[in-house]
Amino acid sequence: MLYADYRPTNLKEVVGQEQNLVTLREQIKIQKYDSAYLFNGHRGTGKTSIARILSRSICCISTTEDGPCNVCQSCKTILTNSTLDFVELDAASHSSINDIKELISSTQYAPTVLSRKIYIIDEVHNLSSSAFDALLKTIEEPPAHCIFILCTTELHKIPATIKSRCSIYQFSAISISAISERLILVLNELNKDFEIDAINLIAKQADGSMRDALSIMEKLIISCNTLTIKHVKTILCLMDDEISIQILSSIIEREGIKAIELLKTIYGEGKNLAQLVDNLLQTLTDGVVLYSSKDMTSVYNTETYKATLYNLVNECDIQQLFWYIDQFCVLREKIRNSLNPYMDVMLYIIKCCNSKLFNESTHDILKRLSALENQITEGMNVQIEYNSSTEIISKDNITEVEEKSIIHNIDIEQSEDVEADENIEAEVLSLLSDYL
Ligand SMILES: [Zn+2]
Repeated sequence: MLYADYRPTNLKEVVGQEQNLVTLREQIKIQKYDSAYLFNGHRGTGKTSIARILSRSICCISTTEDGPCNVCQSCKTILTNSTLDFVELDAASHSSINDIKELISSTQYAPTVLSRKIYIIDEVHNLSSSAFDALLKTIEEPPAHCIFILCTTELHKIPATIKSRCSIYQFSAISISAISERLILVLNELNKDFEIDAINLIAKQADGSMRDALSIMEKLIISCNTLTIKHVKTILCLMDDEISIQILSSIIEREGIKAIELLKTIYGEGKNLAQLVDNLLQTLTDGVVLYSSKDMTSVYNTETYKATLYNLVNECDIQQLFWYIDQFCVLREKIRNSLNPYMDVMLYIIKCCNSKLFNESTHDILKRLSALENQITEGMNVQIEYNSSTEIISKDNITEVEEKSIIHNIDIEQSEDVEADENIEAEVLSLLSDYL
C-alpha cells in the first residue's frame, strides 16, 4: 500500500498542517505535553500519522524538533506496537462501554516499558454515549503518566464535556499543490514517468486527502508505464472539463439546441450524468471564483481552461452565475433517485437557457436600459390608444403626443433578447417532441 509505505515518520515529512506543527514542535522542544489532544479534520489529512509521531516523540530518548528518532528502543517498541504502554483503539469497530472500560482499567498502572502510557482513539465520534461518559471521568482527572490523543472527522458528535477537557487541533484539507508535490516525489522514487496534468488531476480528485491521492495513484500506476492525463480520465471515468465549458457557454449564449446536442452526445457515449452535473457545478464554482478574484492563480486547472472560463463568465454577472449554481444544485439532488436523469438534465439545461425563467440580472437590465436609451436618442414610433381608436404617431411628431397628454399605452418593439428566447423555445419544444 503506497499510503502505508509513504506515511510520514517525523514532522518534517508531514504535508500541510503548518500551524499545528508549530505548536507541536514547541511542545516537543520543551517536553511539555497536554494530557488530552483532540485532532479534528477531513479524512486523510494526517491526524493518525501525527498522533503516532507525537506518541513516539513523547517517549523517544533522543527526540528532536522534527519528532522521534525512530531507531531507539522506545520508538521501535511503538512502531512494532509491542507494548501495552501504547494502545491504539479504532472506535469505528470498538465503540462499546466495555471496550472503553478495558482501556480505562489499564490507565491506573504505571508504564512498564515507555516513559508514558499513550492512548490513541481513532474515529472517536463512534463511541456510544455511555462509553463517552466512562471516558470523561478519566480524561477529567487523568493519571500523570497518561496521555490521550483522540482523532475524529466529526467534531460535532463529540460531547461538549469531552471537548472542554482536550486541546483541540483543527486539521485542514491538504492543498492540491502540496498533494501534487508529494505524488511527484513518490513517482520519482518509483521511477515512473508522468504528465504533470495527470498528477494535478489526481490531486484534485483526492479532495484534500493525501491518503485518497496515494490510493488513486496506486491503482493507476499498476496499469501503465507512463501516467498520462488520458489514462487518469479513462480509468477514473472522468469527464473532460472542455465539455462542461462548452455546455456552460451554450447556456450563457442561450443556445439551447447546441447545449442539448452536447448532452445527447455525452449520454450516447454512456457517460455518467450525475458526474456531468458535478462537473458543471465545479466549472461554475471556478467561474465564480475567477469572476470575483480576477486572479488566474485562484483556480487550479490548465491555463486554457482558466482563460476560456474567465472570458465566458465575464459575459454574465454574479447573480446570474449563482442562479445557475442554484439550479444545478437542485438538479444534483433531483437526479440522485430519478428514473430518467437524462430527461431531468435536459429540462434543466433548457430552463437555464431561457432568460425569462430567472430573475432578470443587473447585467440584462443594464443591457435593456442601454437599448432603450439608444432607441430614445434615435427616436421611435409610438402607438397611442384613445377611448375609441388607435393612432400611430411617428417619431417626428412626438411633441404632439406630449401636448395631448392622453397616452394610455405605449408599445415598444420587442427586444432582440425576447425574440431570441422565443426562437430557442420553439426550437427546443420541437426537439423535445423527439424524446417525450
Ligand atoms: Zn527514538
